[in-house]
Amino acid sequence: MRVGFIGTGTMGQPMLTNIIKTGHTVLAWDVVPQALEAARRLGAAPAGSAAEVARGAEITITMLPSSSHVEAAYTGPAGVLEAAPAGRLCVDMSTIEPATSQRVAAAAKARGIRFLDAPVSGAVPRAVAGTLTIMVGGDPKDLEEARPVLEAMGSTVIHVGPVGAGEVAKICNNLIAGVAMVAVSEAFRIAEGFGVDPKVLTQVISKSSGNTWAMEHGHPVPGIVPTAASSRDYAPGFMTDLMCKDLGLAVNAARQLRVPVFVASAAQELLRLASSHGLGRKDFSAVYAFLKPSSGEAPV
Ligand code: NAD
Repeated sequence: MRVGFIGTGTMGQPMLTNIIKTGHTVLAWDVVPQALEAARRLGAAPAGSAAEVARGAEITITMLPSSSHVEAAYTGPAGVLEAAPAGRLCVDMSTIEPATSQRVAAAAKARGIRFLDAPVSGAVPRAVAGTLTIMVGGDPKDLEEARPVLEAMGSTVIHVGPVGAGEVAKICNNLIAGVAMVAVSEAFRIAEGFGVDPKVLTQVISKSSGNTWAMEHGHPVPGIVPTAASSRDYAPGFMTDLMCKDLGLAVNAARQLRVPVFVASAAQELLRLASSHGLGRKDFSAVYAFLKPSSGEAPV
């Protein structure tokens, strides 16, 4: 297939690499020239706009930072919906507000264009390995059409429900992942204060009820998990600002539904503060670096 790929950043680059490896061709677009150049080096043909991608591709994939970027790429000038021929299929794989997916899907439908939301979990290592988990909202028939391309990027593709439902699953997952990273960071700061070896504590927790993905794969303490972002000065990985956005999506959804949420809001505020202290573009496990004890003279 001729696959269009819009948003060739941290995740987009390994994802489009796997699409090319499976034998499809990729026509790519990104507003940042370095990102587009990276896609060209990986084997994609560079385009000059989102519209050019949508005109030339049989299926168009978007992998953009947030709701406003997705809305602009689809409905803005020189956007996807302006140019895609009727009947075409678009798949947005960004993590965004479910209501935005539904709005873009409605605008697409008005022009005879089909739309799926298909956010992913697994971060960069699993994007590179082609083993992402992909959660899909939309018409199951459209999913079957997109499946060969999605399976080039992911090993688990699950239909969750109508448009927006993939995003709901994703923000629920990231609520847990974001809160867990904060909890692991707090726990290891306490252990450190008592002089407990973090390697030994990791061994204990990995066989106990506190075990979690955040510790096993994303360990916030440097030098314990060699593949974790903490072991390369918190280079992302998954940026603090993006996790902050995802926790915000969960908090907003909860507010609209009148569901009380406590730990998601607390984790979001903490990551926001870490961001305002310069850690926004570091991996979200850098929250551990932020949670330093206060001075020995501070009253307790
Ligand atoms: P990123 O910022 O590295 O990449 C996004 C790219 O989109 C950038 O290169 C940016 O220039 C481009 N862009 C922005 N607006 C555009 C537009 N209108 N047209 C074309 N290109 C545009 O972000 P990322 O880490 O690749 O994340 C992308 C999405 O995937 C986010 O929604 C994120 O929450 C989600 N996600 C990321 C990870 C991860 O580990 N990084 C994991 C799962 C999900």
